[in-house]
Amino acid sequence: MTQLAARGVVKAYGPTPALRGVTLDVAEGEIVAVTGPSGCGKSTLLHCLAGILRPDAGQVTWRGERIDTWSEAARSKLRRTEFGVLFQFGQLVAELTAAENVALPLLLAGTGRREARAAALGWLERLDVADVADVRPGRMSGGQQQRCALARALVTEPRVLFADEPTGALDTLTGEQVLTHLVRLARQQHTSVVLVTHEPRIAAYADREVMLRDGVVDTTGLGLERPFAGE
Ligand code: ADP
Ligand code: ADP
Repeated sequence: MTQLAARGVVKAYGPTPALRGVTLDVAEGEIVAVTGPSGCGKSTLLHCLAGILRPDAGQVTWRGERIDTWSEAARSKLRRTEFGVLFQFGQLVAELTAAENVALPLLLAGTGRREARAAALGWLERLDVADVADVRPGRMSGGQQQRCALARALVTEPRVLFADEPTGALDTLTGEQVLTHLVRLARQQHTSVVLVTHEPRIAAYADREVMLRDGVVDTTGLGLERPFAGE
């Protein structure tokens, strides 16, 4: 069942559109890689799907309902409750420990301190970074930071995880470890994933790859379906 969809999405920042009519479906529990060269519109598409940017034309639907017409407040609430986001780097609050960072989305949602901390510790454990629970980001490795950021993105148990170049700031091995965790946890929770990456090696973790070229889906690439990737 389609969970999230873009229909003919157009978005321009200036005279040249970054997206020129993109249509894409993300099924429940599906991991979709959005790939293509730098500047082809990957991040813009992710921002439109996540309700961060409003498209100039076209539609974005969430469970059959148009969200691109929603107010900023309504989209912001949707992002806090149903979506999780993981960016390339540097998104942890420097003044807070790993556990405090991961607990933050729960505290903002009204969860009690004790319960939020327990949930945060559980997620840090699942990501093998329980040992840095009381450490601040500045004293963690890049891989540890990104695992904490992943824990923070998943702690609210979102229906969709948006990951924009989540391994871009990490070395190859560390990046693959983070991706392995991301895919395992998404599968366990049946979370859909929109994974933006320019690295074919990272895209290979997805069920399906959608390649963008100059703001449109590139349909010339054959053999991009990965029907057995989840098995
Ligand atoms: P990608 O993620 O594939 O690198 P982007 O979606 O970031 O592509 O960018 C698509 C195009 O839109 C690029 O030409 C980029 O320079 C431009 N662009 C992206 N964000 C902005 C912005 N905030 N203001 C102006 N131009 C932008
Ligand atoms: P990415 O790695 O996602 O492609 P970029 O380094 O291209 O990111 O862009 C980082 C930020 O700068 C984004 O918020 C993007 O929207 C913005 N941006 C990208 N291109 C431009 C541009 N030509 N003018 C203004 N802002 C831009």
